[in-house]
Amino acid sequence: MIRHLYVHVPFCTHICPYCAFYKMRNTLPEMKSFLPALKQELAWAQKQFDLQLETVFFGGGTPSALSVSQLEFLFEGWSLQEVAEVTMEANPMTISTDKAKLLKDLGFNRVSLGVQAFDEASLRLLGRTHDAAQVEKSMGLLREAGFENINVDLMFALPGQSLEQWQGSLRAALALSPEHISAYNLNYEEDTAFFERLESGLLRIDPEQERTFYLWADECLTEAGFEHYEISNYARPGWAARHNQAIWDGADYLGLGPSACSTLGSLRWKNTPDLGRYAEVLEETGEPPRELEPLSAEMRQRERILLSLRTQRGCDVAGLGGREAQIEQLVMEGLVEREPGRIRLTRQGQLVADTVTEYLL
Ligand code: SF4
Repeated sequence: MIRHLYVHVPFCTHICPYCAFYKMRNTLPEMKSFLPALKQELAWAQKQFDLQLETVFFGGGTPSALSVSQLEFLFEGWSLQEVAEVTMEANPMTISTDKAKLLKDLGFNRVSLGVQAFDEASLRLLGRTHDAAQVEKSMGLLREAGFENINVDLMFALPGQSLEQWQGSLRAALALSPEHISAYNLNYEEDTAFFERLESGLLRIDPEQERTFYLWADECLTEAGFEHYEISNYARPGWAARHNQAIWDGADYLGLGPSACSTLGSLRWKNTPDLGRYAEVLEETGEPPRELEPLSAEMRQRERILLSLRTQRGCDVAGLGGREAQIEQLVMEGLVEREPGRIRLTRQGQLVADTVTEYLL
């Protein structure tokens, strides 16, 4: 039975220099081949699997780049009304009154706004085309349409970003009263323009900046009443993201769309990250082109530990059989703390989460 579905929509109105996702600019011919192919893949999945969905997440890319008529076409005969949490990632530039209303009517009840920053310099550096006024406007349109669950995505430790700029972005986000804020440290992913600039010495990573900005976000957001429930995620009580929490807990999930990943029991697959081939194969065979990867129970267990340790709930000690000496060492160093049957990262541990996880695994 599958309870969690991810849908990858690989279109963006512009391409950001730090982004490593499979995406392309939204041109009409590509969008025209994508939509029927995605519908075909959904029909295949509905026949193939027992879908009893509790969460659906439309990510990308920028799924909100789809127009009202494209969304209407995609959802002909597919209702999300019974699904508990249905999220759409959205660029503030792409929200209109009609689209916000349609999304609500289609069953979406959560929107994740890709804001990243509120000051001009950071937005320009990140190649974002919106401004703070645009964010406020889209937030207003979403509220008017009845959305009660909105996330604001922010990024920190940007090259040249000052602490004042980061503090300003956090305060501006809080002023909009979202239910959820994600605060991501900028990562330099391979095959991105930022990675090339890092490699050529034009940009550099400042660990002290990362640490200071992380701690400042933690203090500012928890003081404002948010729960810091995962390293990069904060929610007002009761508004944690159910979809992400399920993935961090190691639940099975199905992914639709080019480049989407699925994990079911001992099998993982990735749809071919090539829209042309994805559409062609679906048209010819009715099935998506997939790259299969067998998963051993040990690999899944490692992933579960890795992901759950990033959360406030922490990780089940039973899954760490034989690691008692390592746990004791980490407790002594103040990097993890114990709860009955579980361990979790302390604030200091969160700053070196990857090192702690490596040590434990
Ligand atoms: S960060 Fe988002 S908007 Fe920018 S290119 Fe990547 S998917 Fe598109």
